[in-house]
Amino acid sequence: MITASCLCDGVRLRLDGKLGPAAFCHCSQCRKANGSAFACNAPLRARYLEFECGRDLIREFESSPGKFRAFCSRCGSPIYSRVSADPETFRIRLGVVDGDPERRPLFHVWVGSKAPWFEITDSLPQFDSVPSTQDLPISTMVLEVAILELRSGEARAFEAAFLEAQEIIASSSGYRRHELRRCVETPDRYLLLVWWDSLESHTEGFRKSPGYQRWRELLHHFYDPFPEVEHYVAVTGASA
Ligand SMILES: [Zn+2]
Ligand SMILES: [Zn+2]
Repeated sequence: MITASCLCDGVRLRLDGKLGPAAFCHCSQCRKANGSAFACNAPLRARYLEFECGRDLIREFESSPGKFRAFCSRCGSPIYSRVSADPETFRIRLGVVDGDPERRPLFHVWVGSKAPWFEITDSLPQFDSVPSTQDLPISTMVLEVAILELRSGEARAFEAAFLEAQEIIASSSGYRRHELRRCVETPDRYLLLVWWDSLESHTEGFRKSPGYQRWRELLHHFYDPFPEVEHYVAVTGASA
């Protein structure tokens, strides 16, 4: 379990789920809020954030309309940010994490606003603003692949069940995106692709989540035989 605390130890948090992809943010607001060259932030599903103590010490500053930066009012440690348009997500300031957050930053964002006195010397991808999911480095993701053979005649019911089930997988920590495709030659065969931040996002995060039970109830009875699931990583230079 990952814990976090502010400088004065008045605010203590438990992070019960995995953090999402961490990034170095060079925007001028993060620089000022942290008093440093950049911030390092990682998203966390709101339901995984638990206050052990110090909720009353938290103050929020609305740094731009609808964006709130939360800090400890006693010691000033930045703790997280949130935007009112996405109440499901908190962006945790990795500097307040105790021990190892089990995440390594994947890229730099808002590099166009970078402090002139700071030089980026690592080889991580750099973005001038915040990249859309499509632009994120696919090479760092793990692709889950499963060929689903259905009991015959159940394709329609399966597709309906999948529409409900996909909400579960899409809200899992470490999920990036997914695709379900129907086979042209064999109508009862489907291909499921799910992109994850890491192998553990699928095997530990998703399969051990409460939502997985519901996923199983919705989908597993359609399969015959039960599918084999494999995971694939990118081959350097082998995609456009
Ligand atoms: Zn504090
Ligand atoms: Zn920023």
